[in-house]
Amino acid sequence: MKKIAEIYEGKAKKVYSTENPEYCIVSYKDDATAFNGLKKGTIKGKGVVNNKMSNFLMQKLEKAGIPTHFVEELSERETLVKKVSIIPLEVIVRNVAAGSFSKRFGVAEGTPLKRPTLEFCYKNDELGDPMVNEYHIVACGWATEEDVAEITAYTFKINDFLREFFKGINVELVDFKIEFGKTADGKIILADEISPDTCRFWDAATHEKLDKDRFRRDLGGVEDAYGEMMNRVFKSESK
Ligand code: UDP
Repeated sequence: MKKIAEIYEGKAKKVYSTENPEYCIVSYKDDATAFNGLKKGTIKGKGVVNNKMSNFLMQKLEKAGIPTHFVEELSERETLVKKVSIIPLEVIVRNVAAGSFSKRFGVAEGTPLKRPTLEFCYKNDELGDPMVNEYHIVACGWATEEDVAEITAYTFKINDFLREFFKGINVELVDFKIEFGKTADGKIILADEISPDTCRFWDAATHEKLDKDRFRRDLGGVEDAYGEMMNRVFKSESK
């Protein structure tokens, strides 16, 4: 399948149309942004890590019964995916307090949560992706009540699966953000990516950060952290 025209350029990815209207090609860039685009930079090799890791995890999730947009990895940075209209929600799951949760609620970073939490944010850069609840979502027409119930059920199943998987490679899954889309026939599927850009990964023993927080917080060793996560994920395959 070949790219025809660029239809969208985001902060970390470009999306192209293909000759099949049901498919798109996603191309992962090394560009990194944080704080709603205020901080900009490049993380060398990030596009390759995010593409491969996301594809690997989506295939695992698909086998575990979660429908995803993944179709075929075309190259190190490019993947054929099902075309969806993105539901404009960032769906955030947290197992351990960190980031904006710690700031908002005054819960020290690293505090394990008594049960996983779920947050929805309305995807809108101008508004700074405000947190919304199910009433807001249905009232504004971003998704129906049934859609929200389905997204919630998928999301907790995804969390259970990913937590177990990462535990097996000595990584604590602190929190993550996912997005869902709707196919032309109205099916909700997991879209976007699952990568060190969108998850907080801590080494299970040392709590060393192995994700985009190294870039956000200028901790150094950004490329090494992405490389380390890539190694651990793919080593798990050869076991
Ligand atoms: N996240 C993301 N994109 C966003 C906001 C958050 O992928 O626009 C991820 C982030 O990497 C983390 C989780 O969602 O794994 C929770 O992020 P948080 O709300 O703590 O925001 P942050 O502290 O990253 O601003």
